Amino acid sequence: MSFTTDVRGELARVKTNDVCCARSELASALLASGGITWRGQGRYALCITTSDAATVRRYFSMLKRHWGVAGEIQVLTGDALNHMTRYRLVVDETEAGALLHSLRLTDNPGFLGLKQVPGEGITHFACCKKAFVRAAFLMCGEINSLEKHYHLEIAAPSEPFAHRVAECLAYFELTPGIARRKNKWVVYFKRAEAISDMLSLLGAGAAVLALENIRVRKEVSNHVNRQMNFDQSNINRVVDAAETMIEDIRYIDSELGLEKLPKSLREMAYARANNPETSLSGLGELLDPPIGKSGVNARLRRLTDIANKLRSGEEIRLRGERREELP
Ligand SMILES: [Zn+2]
Repeated sequence: MSFTTDVRGELARVKTNDVCCARSELASALLASGGITWRGQGRYALCITTSDAATVRRYFSMLKRHWGVAGEIQVLTGDALNHMTRYRLVVDETEAGALLHSLRLTDNPGFLGLKQVPGEGITHFACCKKAFVRAAFLMCGEINSLEKHYHLEIAAPSEPFAHRVAECLAYFELTPGIARRKNKWVVYFKRAEAISDMLSLLGAGAAVLALENIRVRKEVSNHVNRQMNFDQSNINRVVDAAETMIEDIRYIDSELGLEKLPKSLREMAYARANNPETSLSGLGELLDPPIGKSGVNARLRRLTDIANKLRSGEEIRLRGERREELP
């Protein structure tokens, strides 16, 4: 089950008792899913088609309760290419006229031209604005798999419909983007906060919780990944530096012999060569007596300096350091 399916399932069960909201929701559902089917000989029917059984039941009972209209539910099984079952709620022409009039969807009586958005008043109240958006989402809404990125969209059938959805959301201070895609106008959100706000506005509380869980999980794993990358690059830096140092130490050993070095440098050279993955402060602790990081640094720099001088044939003075060995 996808996240979209879960959200649809939850929204299809949101209670709406007021006729004002039922009107707004039904008008939105009709427009969003095509609305009119011609049956030949100038006869037509109103249809709401959806892949969600709970959604079709929702509008079936709304029709019955508020308009006394008994719609017919048809089950459309998919063809060989598309196995998806779809459900169609059909309202016969004999009852369609009055219904369309009540939903403020007809342009003028006697001529069947559906408006692209319902007329005045249908989305006037805040409750009805939510209802309008809810049906739009139920009919043509989608949320991508949130593990990758956040994206919610309603693929509206017309530009005026998309703008009406956006206006309804704007009333609640939610500002979606609108973009044209082929013959659809897509109303979308790309931020997790906005998606979460919209879902909670429409009444999908469980979906909001699920989304919050995903967000927390993503934040934690991003943090862990960043920390691991940081640790790994630190280890790589230590190892790289140690490898260069160990080359220098080997060079000194082959050209001069480590035993010629003063004790402090000789011990440092052995400690470094035997512990390539140990940090500078860790190396300091291996010495007897232990020394700090800056002391280790100074001795390693001196070893590098000696190796460089050996390579270039410069004179090396070890006397200063030899004195350290004297009691
Ligand atoms: Zn209402």
